[in-house]
This record gives sequence, C-alpha cells and structure tokens, in this order.
Amino acid sequence: MATGEFDLIRDYFANLGVERADVSLGVGDDGAILNVPHGRQLLSVTDTLVQSVHFPRTCPARSIGHRALAVNLSDIAAMGGEPAWASLSLSVPHNEASWMADFAAGFGELASEHGVQLVGGDTVRGPLVITVHLMGLVNESAAVRRSGASAGDLIYTSGTLGDAAAGLRCITRGQESGWLADQFLYPQPQVNLGRQLGNFCSAAIDISDSFGQDLGHILQASDVGANVHLEKLPLSSELCQHHSIDEARYLAISGGDDYELCMCVPPEQRAGFERFSQDAECLVSLVGEITAKPGLRFLDNGSAATVNVRGHDHFGSDD
Ligand code: ADP
Ligand code: MG
Repeated sequence: MATGEFDLIRDYFANLGVERADVSLGVGDDGAILNVPHGRQLLSVTDTLVQSVHFPRTCPARSIGHRALAVNLSDIAAMGGEPAWASLSLSVPHNEASWMADFAAGFGELASEHGVQLVGGDTVRGPLVITVHLMGLVNESAAVRRSGASAGDLIYTSGTLGDAAAGLRCITRGQESGWLADQFLYPQPQVNLGRQLGNFCSAAIDISDSFGQDLGHILQASDVGANVHLEKLPLSSELCQHHSIDEARYLAISGGDDYELCMCVPPEQRAGFERFSQDAECLVSLVGEITAKPGLRFLDNGSAATVNVRGHDHFGSDD
C-alpha cells in the first residue's frame, strides 16, 4: 500500500486487545517476541475470510472484524486451549477511516473479552480478504484432538444449532437486523467451555461447516460411527418460530457458521462434564453416541430417519 500504511497500522492496529505480560515485543518491529510458559504447549490456528465467499458484500465492518477473530477463537476452543496472541493479515481495497475504525472495534472488543493481544500482521491493498493467525496455550499433553473418540462416548453440542445459517438467509434477503442475523454477524465462540475440554472430552471439533459434516470429521479421524437423535438437537425458539421442524433440523445439521463445539465425552466423565457446564451456565445438549459401527445414522424418536447432510466445502461438488 502506498502512503498511509504505517499511519493506518498505528491508528487502528497498534493496541488492539489486552496488554499481555507474556509479550516481550508486539506490533512495530519485523516480528513479535512471545514467551511460552514452561509446561505449556503452543496451539496455532489460522482462518481466512473472503468477501462474497465467507460473508456477503453488505456485511458491516464491525461484524467482519468480529468474525475474523471469532472463527479462530472457536478453533482454539475446540483444541481445549486458551487464546493468547493474534496476527492479522488484512487485504483491503481502500483505506477508509470509518470502515477501519469499525473493523478494528469489532476485532478489538472480542480480543479484549478473551484476553487476546494483537501482536502483528500485514496490511496490503487488494480485494477484501482477512486472515487471522491465532496462537493459544494448552497444558502439555492436554490438547483435545479429533481422533480420540471411542464407541460408547456421548456426543454433546454447545449452544443451539442452525441459527447462523438461518441468519445468513435473512441477511441475503435484506433483513440485516434481528436475533437470527446477529448469530451470523456476531457469533460468540465457546472459549470458556473450550478451556475445560481437556478435563472431560476424548475428542472435539468446532462446528464451522455444519454439525453433520464436522461430526463426520471426528468419526473419520477416530475410525468410529455415530447415532444422532433428531429430537435432541438443540434448536432455538427463534429458529423454530420461523421454520418448520424439518427445516429447522436441516439447518441445525447442514447449516454452517454456528461456531459451537461438538464434544465426545466418555460415560465416566458424564456427571463431571454436566456439573461443570451447569455451574458455568453453559448450555450443552446430549445429542447422540459414538458407535463401533462406522457411518453417521440419524434417529427420530428411535426410528431411522434420512437427513441430507451438507456443509461448506470450497472444492466440493456443491460449489
Ligand atoms: P514488514 O515490512 O517488516 O513486513 P510491516 O511494515 O508490514 O513490516 O509492518 C510493520 C509492523 O506492523 C509489524 O510489526 C507488523 O507485524 C505490524 N502490522 C502490519 N499490519 C498489521 C495489522 N493489520 N495488524 C497488526 N499489526 C500489523
Ligand atoms: Mg520486515
């Protein structure tokens, strides 16, 4: 970017999020210097948002800043870690002050809420593309992978499912306000629940593409199958108010952008996990169980049901 790049960085990105004691050097040099405490491991995740692919052109700048960090916080949560340091690569077509201020506010508020410091990045002129690299910390050997599920484990999901997909439909129809639209624009990743996953879960994933597709990744990585009970899917009253039960269930299973967690809990951890989530006032729902028999099966009050499982796949046949 021509003149203005350094002013822009100083004005909007030099002091975003909290000031962490483990940052020896943040924004301003060629690189950041970060201190990983003894006995902890560094988690590293990255996610890119592209205009018109991951969010519509009408998406407010504040939402774009919020979502760019939220999708990464969700990945750190799914690994059982605690978020710490972020790097932001920003490609923008124009240096427009109000857009930058709103984008930085959306990013910065969520960073502060979750104890994250922005420690570096890159700023270029180009199509609107935002890449965040988020680093987190986890106790040694305590990270939760997709590959640890065993037959008999219970499958839980956090929050409610399908709201963001319904919200995106509202937004593309021009209804940009309302609770459902907000679930797409301002997802709240399950950071506090995520930090505790290592105590209870054999496997976990965050629900970004769709519950059905993301659970499928756990099944594949763990070499197991699952039964999911449709009547147990957590559906919000707002979703049910605007959709038939079949449509609501379809959105819950095949809609993307929920940024909730799908967690496998061994039966002996069930009581502790449910007690913790209740004390933390974090809604979790038992929706199914892991089976030795491969494949993902749906049941409606005990009877086999057919569900069309879809999800976001950039290079899949749906595109
Ligand atoms: P270099 O030329 O060495 O790549 P830059 O001039 O791109 O450095 O960046 C200067 C400093 O500003 C670096 O510390 C970099 O990490 C930081 N930075 C650049 N863009 C951003 C951004 N969008 N958010 C946060 N930090 C940024
Ligand atoms: Mg340099």
